[in-house]
Amino acid sequence: MADDCLFCKIAGGEIPAKIVYRDDEVVAFEDINPQAPCHVLIVPYRHIPTLNDAEAGDDALLGRLVLRAARIAAERGHAADGYRTVFNCNRGAGQTVFHIHLHLLAGRNLNWPPG
Ligand code: AMP
Ligand code: ZN
Repeated sequence: MADDCLFCKIAGGEIPAKIVYRDDEVVAFEDINPQAPCHVLIVPYRHIPTLNDAEAGDDALLGRLVLRAARIAAERGHAADGYRTVFNCNRGAGQTVFHIHLHLLAGRNLNWPPG
């Protein structure tokens, strides 16, 4: 856990969030400022600041985030219509919380390319 990290605090239960899934490595919760009818963040407990900081041994953990996003999308009925998963990496891509998180967005038409 990193000091003053919002997502470490949410994962640790120190700051409340609308948790939708939790296991021994990963927690998922509703985004506080949703950009689509379905906007969930899938987050590892371990503090990894950006995708640049992930290492070879993190491949299973990263895969777990992606598969969990797919499961949540399917559970919510978005598998067929489609959904988007996004890691924003660093400020130029819009990252504002420096603890990696996978965005799951669904429930509306998602334009491409994104802004
Ligand atoms: P990013 O801009 O990719 O770093 O995404 C950070 C996301 O965290 C944004 O979509 C925010 O709306 C979301 N967020 C910020 N604070 C909270 C919070 N307390 N609970 C849930 N989501 C949050
Ligand atoms: Zn953290």
